[in-house]
Amino acid sequence: MNILKVKNLSSSYFDIEKFDAVKNVSFNLERGEFLGIAGESGCGKSTLGFSIINLLKEPGKITGGEIIFDNKNILDLKPNELIKMRWSEFSIVFQASMNALNPTLKIRNQIYDVFKAHTKMKKQDIVCRANELFKMVNIKQEYLDSYVHQLSGGMKQRIVIAIALALEPRLVIMDEPTTALDVVVQRRIIQEVNYLRKKKQFSIIYITHDLSLLVEISDKIAIMYAGEFVEIGPAKSIFSNPFHPYTKELINCFPRLTGKRERLKGIKGYPPLLNEKIIGCAYKDRCVERSDDCNRKINKFEVNNGHYVLCNLYKNDNR
Ligand code: ADP
Ligand code: MG
Repeated sequence: MNILKVKNLSSSYFDIEKFDAVKNVSFNLERGEFLGIAGESGCGKSTLGFSIINLLKEPGKITGGEIIFDNKNILDLKPNELIKMRWSEFSIVFQASMNALNPTLKIRNQIYDVFKAHTKMKKQDIVCRANELFKMVNIKQEYLDSYVHQLSGGMKQRIVIAIALALEPRLVIMDEPTTALDVVVQRRIIQEVNYLRKKKQFSIIYITHDLSLLVEISDKIAIMYAGEFVEIGPAKSIFSNPFHPYTKELINCFPRLTGKRERLKGIKGYPPLLNEKIIGCAYKDRCVERSDDCNRKINKFEVNNGHYVLCNLYKNDNR
């Protein structure tokens, strides 16, 4: 069952200059599906995450496309309709979310506030549900009565995730939710979230610069570069058979959990600034497989079942 359809979504920042941060992004998300989005910093991942739920702030603006969530076009909704849907239908966790916890209130009261603001639940049910949520994200009940400063980074992030899941939304967007934490904690949290996703069947869009975090967890992976999805497909297909030269390099950038140890190399150069008009492929200056074709219009090709790549190398590909 489809939960989200994004079609040709574009967003720009109208600052002193115009920055085209999201360009023509399209994808579908099924109920219970885990979509991982990876790419270097500055490629438009956060802009996309906020755009999907129409939360992009000035000077950012959605300039085109459609976002159909549960058969409703998000872009047609009135502000009060959108507010109603936030938290209960979809929620977002981002890196700075844990800084949004209130230092003057006990955690317990901050969780109760979510239920009080959005539901008509009775006090005793709210207490029960808060306990359940803490159990769900593996924090001992006694921490409900603590203040933010008494908690570790990992606990704070677990609490923010618990709050995002409190009203059982159907879609949770996580934008680098664990980047500030150490790698072991990051992996543990993402695995826990994945366990909950399977159990409760909500959908996740998980955004990260670290492609290796998405292995084994994602159903689908999209690789974002200079505002575009340059490759999207089933996770297995992306990892075992990457087509876009950028994806291939990204896969080599992070250590593999298994297999032989190799020296890791970053990709030379930087993503382009998004205020410049790009002719042909945005990756061409860094690409090790570039050719004259890279200056022409870049097309999207289906290289495997449901696996698409934006690269002219595959135009004569007859697989
Ligand atoms: P990512 O999350 O992949 O690091 P972002 O979505 O944060 O990327 O940013 C994408 C691009 O959008 C940036 O490279 C920058 O050019 C532009 N951008 C982001 N925020 C702003 C802003 N407030 N004003 C102007 N441009 C911005
Ligand atoms: Mg970001």
